[in-house]
Amino acid sequence: MTATKAPIPTPRDEIVIPRRRFGGRLAVIVVVVLAAAAAVFLGLAAWGGIFSKDETAPRVTLDVPAEGAKYEGVIEITGSVADQSKLSEFSLVLDGADCTPAFELGGRRTVKFRFKLDTGLLADGRHELAVAAADARGNRAGTQVTFYVENHATVVELAFEPGRVDQGRTLVVKLNANKKLYDLEGKLWDQKFPFYKTADGFTSIVGVRASCPPGEYPVVVAGYDVYDEAVELKGTVTVADGGYIKEKIVITAPDKKKIFDPALEEKKMLEYRKVQGIITRRRDEQLWAGTFAMPAEGRITSPFGTYRTFSTGGESRHLGVDIANKEGTPIRASNRGEVMLAEGLIVRGNTVILDHGRGVFSIYNHLSAVAVEPGQTVEKGQVVGYMGSSGLATGPHVHWEMRVFKWVVAPLQWTKTTFTYRPPEDEEKALQEVERGYEEALAAAPPEAKESTGGHFKAGELIPDMEGAD
Ligand SMILES: [Zn+2]
Repeated sequence: MTATKAPIPTPRDEIVIPRRRFGGRLAVIVVVVLAAAAAVFLGLAAWGGIFSKDETAPRVTLDVPAEGAKYEGVIEITGSVADQSKLSEFSLVLDGADCTPAFELGGRRTVKFRFKLDTGLLADGRHELAVAAADARGNRAGTQVTFYVENHATVVELAFEPGRVDQGRTLVVKLNANKKLYDLEGKLWDQKFPFYKTADGFTSIVGVRASCPPGEYPVVVAGYDVYDEAVELKGTVTVADGGYIKEKIVITAPDKKKIFDPALEEKKMLEYRKVQGIITRRRDEQLWAGTFAMPAEGRITSPFGTYRTFSTGGESRHLGVDIANKEGTPIRASNRGEVMLAEGLIVRGNTVILDHGRGVFSIYNHLSAVAVEPGQTVEKGQVVGYMGSSGLATGPHVHWEMRVFKWVVAPLQWTKTTFTYRPPEDEEKALQEVERGYEEALAAAPPEAKESTGGHFKAGELIPDMEGAD
């Protein structure tokens, strides 16, 4: 334990307790009055008292803990309060919670205090202690320090599930830590991703980009520990070939004119930005539970990830799964979520975007009509619209996309694997609720289709999907 003596703080007019950065449990502390009776009377008090015109605030000093120092075990909080007049109030506030010990000021003008604090009862990391006092004339002053507690060594481990992941598949990055970490951000190839607190540390569910070239990648996770010091962890993940189909599409001159219309390009860019604006939002709550359901009955006519190059130049990747069936087939929410968009778009046609929380979104395109409104929470299996061929589509089908922190992922993986931030018992409970909603939604009569809001551009039989680069 090292503690340097703090400079004598300047008394302030009022105590400013800073907003606590860490929302953790309020520390429950036991403060034992060791020597409250160590107070000393100033002998020169004859002219003092409440009849004087004392307008000076008490002088408050805190010696231990010292600003920025790190402590372990039992420490003694020491300092003093002095004033021309009798002291009338004294308080000690630790991490925003009052912990003033019971002791009498006894009409003294100077008090030296000494209290025992067992730092073992506090969480490791940053804490704030404030001392304040007032004299009988109502003049107030206080001081505060930030100090750190370290009773346990920091242990942090970085783990990947799995360590080898296919392009376009979802990867779980876990930080098992015995202490809190802050502002964590991971990086894999050109992808940055945040973390969420979990029962045993921190987790990030990351969609590895389908366009990430196969190979070994360093994964770096950076953030801050409870001592406000930078931490960095490194690991390695192997990205394997996703086995995606490669297609070369020949485009004739008349087709080219039809598809690459500059006015259409501009509208497509606006649409792209609109969708990006939605799927880059962060909802802290996890709404989904368990696996995702296929949004429609039908035949998969185009798998996820097909890479297309065009004879006229340019490239695109099929970012979703196409399920085809007859026009009007109900399209159902693949899991519980909130409707963020339900309207007609140029390329995607009538579209519904669901936010499942924590950066996970599902998108349903080319609907004949939508059946939900933005802001509505939908259960897994609830009808969100009907199959159609609006937008750039060859025939009735739903183009179903899944996004994780804005990146596209293979949706079918989410129908087989449960990805969750919850501990097992909480996931089980959430799953029961979602499955109950799913059963009710499947049993319910399909809702009325809402009047579509436009977006009935049809490109003909040319390009099934052209969502642009991922
Ligand atoms: Zn598609």
